[in-house]
Amino acid sequence: MSFDSLGLSADILRAVREQGYNEPTPIQSKAIPLVLEGRDIMACAQTGTGKTAGFTLPLLHRLGPRPQNKRPNAPRALVLTPTRELAAQVGESVTTYSRHLPTRSAVIFGGVKISPQISKLRRGVDVLVATPGRLLDHAQQKTVDLSRVEVLVLDEADRMLDMGFIHDIRRIIAMLPDKALRQNLLFSATFSKDIQKLAGTLLNDPQLLEV
Ligand code: AMP
Repeated sequence: MSFDSLGLSADILRAVREQGYNEPTPIQSKAIPLVLEGRDIMACAQTGTGKTAGFTLPLLHRLGPRPQNKRPNAPRALVLTPTRELAAQVGESVTTYSRHLPTRSAVIFGGVKISPQISKLRRGVDVLVATPGRLLDHAQQKTVDLSRVEVLVLDEADRMLDMGFIHDIRRIIAMLPDKALRQNLLFSATFSKDIQKLAGTLLNDPQLLEV
């Protein structure tokens, strides 16, 4: 299979080619068409499988060639990650794959000064990659508005639960549009009972993917 047959826009395919990717990985060939269709997915995928591009590429496509986010602090896509390292890594992928698009992205995590993050959010962000605690700090200070999120990604959801983020995640989800009004993508290395429970409250008729 080639990337060209998946339905991604030319500007995204160009960035993929520039990365030197010749063909999609298994998780990418399964996830990309489903995400483009607007489906919710629950994907069992480890790090190293190419899962980041698996959700980032179709997410960027769905935001469109001109995201035109007029509301400064209101991202249209939110990617939650358990750690700052993963947030930074996903943020880099978003930057790389959107390099031929007008899409703006930002990464926010704790342990660093909050003011540069506030300035960045104020300038306008389409895709926000965040760790739960610092995102809640921003939400409380009203420096981020989560009411416009169209696509939610939980990356490494099992690690987020292991790290005790379930309450933070639930508080964040409560600030998003109703689940029927957004697309929800859950990635996890395992399908424990707790993950299935979270998936039950978060996903609409999800397609299950295993690789
Ligand atoms: P991930 O599992 O998302 O952390 O990705 C693992 C690594 O695979 C990253 O370094 C990506 O740049 C790389 N990668 C992702 N998709 C592809 C692909 N289709 N072909 C070759 N490398 C890829």
